[in-house]
Amino acid sequence: MRVMARAGSIVADALAAASAATVVGATTADVDAAARRVIEGAGAESNFLGYYGFPAVSCVSVNDEVVHGIPGPRVIEDGDIVSIDCGAIVDGWHGDAAVTVIAGAPRGGQDTHLVEQTRVALWAGIAALATADRLDEVAGAIEDVAGAAQLHPLLGYVGHGIGTAMHQAPEVLNYRTRGRQPKVKAGMCLAIEPMFVVGTGESTVLEDDWTVVSADGSRAAHWEHSIAIHDDGIWVLTAHDGGAAELAAYRVSPVAP
Ligand code: MG
Ligand code: MG
Repeated sequence: MRVMARAGSIVADALAAASAATVVGATTADVDAAARRVIEGAGAESNFLGYYGFPAVSCVSVNDEVVHGIPGPRVIEDGDIVSIDCGAIVDGWHGDAAVTVIAGAPRGGQDTHLVEQTRVALWAGIAALATADRLDEVAGAIEDVAGAAQLHPLLGYVGHGIGTAMHQAPEVLNYRTRGRQPKVKAGMCLAIEPMFVVGTGESTVLEDDWTVVSADGSRAAHWEHSIAIHDDGIWVLTAHDGGAAELAAYRVSPVAP
């Protein structure tokens, strides 16, 4: 777990740098380059670069792009909603996290609401994980935030187990389904990642075979953390404080790895 916390810290630093680089006039490739400098500077490997041929260390998804956007020459405009998803490997152990930022001035309160409530859903899901018997409780907590906020989880895209590979079983859903989800057990590490859209939860994939856009063109946000489950609690691997500051509101105290 300590090595995964190291990988997670590097991801946190990479996302901080990429967020700072998300300014009006920069390209999405500039955002990726900022993340890449941190990952390489820390002596870590990227788990995104080369993943099924993916050409960058991060996914940068703008406005109606929900996830898996490919960084490139696209210039970031005032008020763009930019989701950045990034990961790192240290000694074979993976970290994975995502943030969404608004470049320049928000175009309206709806955009701020979308980004903030998706972030709230992430922490509600993490807090639920701390006491959950099954992953249904995480999914329910995330879906409840979406419902209260009148936003919609992206259908068919989920969080996942993480460890010696970026994507492992089990799936971590962002909404309730029929049938019980797996039990939460000590020793699991999970990536929880709510993806919310303003419109319906339907999506399509662009011709680049990567970029997932909302089917109705409505705007989207994506937040993610990787979390370790111990016998006596959880630790958010991709937050430097293990999630202590954000989880205090839920009366959850992280347990160090
Ligand atoms: Mg991710
Ligand atoms: Mg993930």
